[in-house]
Amino acid sequence: MATPTKTRGRGATEDLAEPAGPVAASAPPAAAPPAPVVFVLYAYCLPVRGARRSVVCDLQRQLLHFIPDALYEILIEHRGKTVAEIKLHYRHECDTEIDEYFEFLEREDLGFWCDDPESFPEIDLSWDPPERITNAILDVDADSVHDYPDILGQLDDLGTKALEARSFHRCRLDELISLLAAAAHGRLRSIELVAGYGEELTSEALEGLAGDWRRLSAILIHSAPAWRRRRWTIARLGTSVEYVTETIDSPRCCGKIHPGQLAVNLETFAEARRFNTCLNRKLAIDARGEIRNCPSLPRSFGNVREVSLHSALAHRDFPALWSVNKDQIAVCRDCELRYVCTDCRAYLTDAADRYSKLSSCTYDPYTATWNSPAADAAAGSAHDAQGEIR
Ligand code: SF4
Repeated sequence: MATPTKTRGRGATEDLAEPAGPVAASAPPAAAPPAPVVFVLYAYCLPVRGARRSVVCDLQRQLLHFIPDALYEILIEHRGKTVAEIKLHYRHECDTEIDEYFEFLEREDLGFWCDDPESFPEIDLSWDPPERITNAILDVDADSVHDYPDILGQLDDLGTKALEARSFHRCRLDELISLLAAAAHGRLRSIELVAGYGEELTSEALEGLAGDWRRLSAILIHSAPAWRRRRWTIARLGTSVEYVTETIDSPRCCGKIHPGQLAVNLETFAEARRFNTCLNRKLAIDARGEIRNCPSLPRSFGNVREVSLHSALAHRDFPALWSVNKDQIAVCRDCELRYVCTDCRAYLTDAADRYSKLSSCTYDPYTATWNSPAADAAAGSAHDAQGEIR
């Protein structure tokens, strides 16, 4: 088995293999420069410890690499040490495993060898965008009487960047257009549309919508007939479109955790370390116009027809759940996925405890298994593609 020393010595070997010229023929061969001795993870590859295993989150390539806790310990507690120093620390009882670990890190391209690790500072994980509200949900049903221009204008004033608009009923095309038209001139960067299937919502019509309204980042059509089931991305626009047969007819369809929905990116990671990954800087307007932290939470801060979003946001209790982060939540605090996972404070394992785990998650960080066959299968295929070692 190749040792890290041999592997990282590749550069030195190439130096020695330089063709000997006239000078080299008569002069003594120059000594090869010493190989770099410290392995440094790329700044965007961040290890997170869990109860049973750990993970390296590659936030640039959006990949997870599951690793043993022992490797986490080497990466964190022995950061900046040479391999020789690390082996000595473990009294040379784990030399083979340590070699395998560094071989793995090299193979997966998670870092590099160097002599001056102090020259590579850690990535800045502070999270403090200027917007008062970064994301919003607007729910709609057949009985909703929303004033779209007014609501979208207020969200724009608050600096909202992302909107999820969810229609629980079967929609006509003109209903979707009236919503999108209200957002045409604001600063929203992305709109995700969820709508019930109606005959007008053909794939051609949806592609046309995406072409006309460039901020549309995703369209999900629920309650579609089985023959419509399909998922694709409009390549020239980057908009994802999907027909699903499941019915989304109330906010209760939200708050599900699935391995395929983990968000492996710098923004989520940085936010999750301090804030709630669902509710932080979020504002929701339910189908009746009630302003809430989330449409599934019981507390209303007034109706948007009578209270401005600005006033609702100024209520001292409005941000109360924003700072409930995964490090404070039972079970999640021991989960290696806690900084790439979303959250939900509406459906909890203990409704009386705001720090209890959300009820829809079937992952058990103490056994590292998803206790639902579908999630486990999805996690298995994801791990296969993500270079897992145990
Ligand atoms: S236990 Fe479930 S909800 Fe909690 S961080 Fe892990 S995957 Fe997410």
